[in-house]
Amino acid sequence: MAKRDYYEVLGVSREATADEIKKAYRQAAIKYHPDKNPDDKDAEEKFKEAAEAYDVLSTPDKKARYDQFGHAGMSGAAGGGGAGGFEGFGGGFTMEDIFGRFGDIFGGHFGGFGGFGGGGQQGGKRVNRGSDLRIKVKLSLKEVLNGTEKKLKINKLIACDQCNGSGARTPEGIKTCPTCNGSGYVSQVVNTFFGATQATQVCPQCRGEGTIITDPCPKCHGEGVVKGEEVVTIKIPPGVGEGMQLTVAGKGNAARHGGVNGNLLVLIEEEDDPNFVRDGNDLIYNLNISIPQAVLGDSVEVPTVDAKAKIKIEPGTPTGKVLRLKGKGMPDINGYGKGDLLVIVNVYIPKSVSAEEKKLVEQLKEAKSFRPSAGKNEQNIFDRMRNFFR
Ligand SMILES: [Zn+2]
Ligand SMILES: [Zn+2]
Repeated sequence: MAKRDYYEVLGVSREATADEIKKAYRQAAIKYHPDKNPDDKDAEEKFKEAAEAYDVLSTPDKKARYDQFGHAGMSGAAGGGGAGGFEGFGGGFTMEDIFGRFGDIFGGHFGGFGGFGGGGQQGGKRVNRGSDLRIKVKLSLKEVLNGTEKKLKINKLIACDQCNGSGARTPEGIKTCPTCNGSGYVSQVVNTFFGATQATQVCPQCRGEGTIITDPCPKCHGEGVVKGEEVVTIKIPPGVGEGMQLTVAGKGNAARHGGVNGNLLVLIEEEDDPNFVRDGNDLIYNLNISIPQAVLGDSVEVPTVDAKAKIKIEPGTPTGKVLRLKGKGMPDINGYGKGDLLVIVNVYIPKSVSAEEKKLVEQLKEAKSFRPSAGKNEQNIFDRMRNFFR
């Protein structure tokens, strides 16, 4: 499919000013915003197409190249080029790129000054953005190991279904704001000690929206949003950890009057595990063995997060010995393999013994090999700890 002309994509003339281009992009971004067009591939493509067009037309050197050479001027410049031909982004923008780079244009609070319009120029209407919501999700180690999906019912502000989020009973119930004539901001002369100066501020009547509601929707009282709930599916990748925060874009509170939804911020908590202590991607397991096992060696089973593993206890294994099971730990969140399972051996010493057992132990007392002086250096616990934390 042939690439559309960037000016055509944004619906502006080739003589359009930077402000007109920005305004056109903002309108397109809001129109095709994924929150307003859930599961609509066509809208998503248009949303991306508009971002790409805006990226080029808002960057002076890219715009100059495009004006002269068209799409041919855009590919190859950064090496690669390729099908997308879109410098720096390989095959085009991802949604994250768009929100990261341009989110403040169509989703942020930009009133009359700063932000949009480059300092109090025309067209600074404010787009409402819903507030972010925070929730906590508690996960077991097994869920962290494999990643999981949680379906959670979230109490939040949702768009009013009676007025489709507009806040007005009928389309005629929305009027241009008389205070700012629809611009969203007001200028006023402020007299200060140093003389008169002009200040621009968000219009107090329409709060920067440029419109007011003269015939409010009875259900939402003109807000465009009502309290409600939504079941949100949260995909949790393998390897998350306590205190990490995931962002689910667009699943926070809906905005007044059909703006852009806030985000849902998911704080990860970990359940205590009966077997393991987690240390980054490694897991630590405490293995109790008997004195005979420690002296003579044995083969024992240890749990892993989702199965079991057999390990060999060498004859003469002291307390504090660390056995490392490669790759039996937790997956790295960024996909760099897996951590290890560290099995720390503890030789179990009984608190009390029977008369018969006492006799056995007393025999050992006289046995030469059981005198601590025999293996002094190799059983220095400080040396072992130093190696362990190296
Ligand atoms: Zn106003
Ligand atoms: Zn309503």
